Amino acid sequence: MSFPPRAEAATSNSMPDVPVPRTSSDPGELRFRQVHLDFHTSPLIPDIGADFDPDEFVHTLKDASVNSINIFAKCHHGMAYYPTKVGVMHPNLKFDLLGRMIEACHRADILTPVYYTIMWDQHAAMNHSDWRVLDETGKDDGAGPLEAGWIRLCPNTPYLDYCVAQSEEIARNYDVDGFWFDILEYSSYGCFCPCCMREREKLGLDSTRQEDRARHSEIVLARALDRLSSAVKKYKPQAMLFFNGRVRIGMRPYLKYFTQVEIESLPGGGWGYAHFAIMSRYVRNLGLDYLGMDGRFHRSWGDFGGLRNQAALDYECFRMLAQAGKCSVGDQLHPRGKLVKPVYELIGRTYRSVAEKEPWCRGARAVTEIGYLSTAHFLVPVSVARSDEGVTNMLEELHHQFDTLDRESDFSRYKIIILPDGHRLDEELTRKVKDYLASGGRLILSHESGLDPEGKRFVLPDFGVDYEAPSPYQGNKGDYFEVLEGLNEGIPQTVHFSYTPGSLVKAQPGTATLARFWQPYFDRNYLHFSSHRQTAYEKPTDYAVVTQKGSVIYISFPVFSGYALNAYRVQKLLVRNCIARLLPTPLVRTNAPSTAELTVTEQQGRRIVHVLHYPAERRCPDLDIVEDVIPLSNLRIALRMESRPTRVYLAPQRQSLKFDYADGYVQVVVPSVEGHQMVVFEV
Ligand SMILES: [Zn+2]
Repeated sequence: MSFPPRAEAATSNSMPDVPVPRTSSDPGELRFRQVHLDFHTSPLIPDIGADFDPDEFVHTLKDASVNSINIFAKCHHGMAYYPTKVGVMHPNLKFDLLGRMIEACHRADILTPVYYTIMWDQHAAMNHSDWRVLDETGKDDGAGPLEAGWIRLCPNTPYLDYCVAQSEEIARNYDVDGFWFDILEYSSYGCFCPCCMREREKLGLDSTRQEDRARHSEIVLARALDRLSSAVKKYKPQAMLFFNGRVRIGMRPYLKYFTQVEIESLPGGGWGYAHFAIMSRYVRNLGLDYLGMDGRFHRSWGDFGGLRNQAALDYECFRMLAQAGKCSVGDQLHPRGKLVKPVYELIGRTYRSVAEKEPWCRGARAVTEIGYLSTAHFLVPVSVARSDEGVTNMLEELHHQFDTLDRESDFSRYKIIILPDGHRLDEELTRKVKDYLASGGRLILSHESGLDPEGKRFVLPDFGVDYEAPSPYQGNKGDYFEVLEGLNEGIPQTVHFSYTPGSLVKAQPGTATLARFWQPYFDRNYLHFSSHRQTAYEKPTDYAVVTQKGSVIYISFPVFSGYALNAYRVQKLLVRNCIARLLPTPLVRTNAPSTAELTVTEQQGRRIVHVLHYPAERRCPDLDIVEDVIPLSNLRIALRMESRPTRVYLAPQRQSLKFDYADGYVQVVVPSVEGHQMVVFEV
């Protein structure tokens, strides 16, 4: 594929703000301002596309500064939006909607990758019960016979041949810029359909074991990706290729099929705000260009008549830029085929601003100095692991620059590696961590991280801590600790609670104890309890809660998942003070409040600090709402730089800022931040 590696794509200030132009065979570089135009339209709805006017369609997109749009070849109802010999054209569509959209968009230099759904196809599910995914009781995966909703299909059946043939038909007959394949994902239990059962037996995999079924699901999906990408490349070798459902921590084996990574993450749709914060910090280091996919909906996909707040859409798209990504906004086309004007006015206000900011974002790479190893595991998909969320929230609120890592990430790039809460070390990981420490790395571990796979003892040499047992205060649901001198800056001097039970450990001679364990009068259970919650603390013990030996700090309770669940500020300050002991000169220092996000990116010859300030508030049971821009004033930023910059200015305003350079830091005062502000430091 032709996306340039990020380093080569770095720009100077004078670079014109235009993407690499599209040719008929090559879509060029991934564009910044995309729309994903859902169009899942029941065959019962009449007059499909009756109001579609190609000129108006393109004008609406152009006015909104959209330069790439995913349009629909086949939807979850299994309907095609073009005359097809392989599949089923929507019965109430009377013309080639796909073809006319492609033609109109290309005249206006708007790219048109096409959407094609795989594992949800209602037409196929209703006509081929033998193609359906089955659970362990033999039931369908999805809506029951009396429910509205999708039913999952298995690509380990002849259904895959159908999808491959139809993809080939589209690639052969249309000037598409790429394919966006959706729903390549089994539920965690895998599939018990006859084809999958038979194949597992043949491969020596045990259908009774979840792990074997998960492994088999990966084999089936890899085969599907291989066949689908071959079918497309036969006719469109330069096509953009993306497979939704495969994006997760540990996705590396699939990357060879992708030309870009897209993070579907609608904060109103169950993903919340943490998901993108975690995933963007992972996928941006996989060597491909990436984008974040938001939605224009108040809630999620299919929310006709629900509009996102402007400030929320701004925040979500500018956050993609701040994390060195590009933008996509999901919409759903009305069955009559007319785009809704206010939706594109909303998107346009955001995207015109994105366009202005692109010169400082094109080819930009994130600058980071802390990496944390994700607890999410590829074979047991979790959208957000609690400890990942806790680390991410903490480090964002503390304005540290960090990445999400998997086991194959290069640890040597980071000044500190954090192994949060649950990383017992097998041989391979032990070796990796040892090598990192031997080459001067610094490590923070918590709770079970650092134990052997059986959870019996710590395996790192010279760790200086002995493991005894899980905390005996499970009924209290947490442990008491006192933070000692050397770690207590800003922490009120009293006994604090962990809100989640940890481990009992002792520091060996020569290991510093920076926080110690207090025992309660007793644990809480039916035989003895006191008051409403955990029993009061009684006295200190010689168990340790935070230890340091050399460049390794250990925290005995699951401080990161605990923070995700409780957000107890003292625990964040505890981690802040641990980091300060290992990294006394962080990349960024600031007086920004914890509600502000500061990230650092770089292009050739300059570093860019992005400041975002859009505090979200929970205003209903399951939604965080961003409605207003809360300005910040007189924001102090100190950026560590090796030499005095030649110029510091605000972008995109190009307004110069006075700065001081002392002790390796460039210091500026940003007079005002209205939502999103870039501050550019030129070398
Ligand atoms: Zn199956």
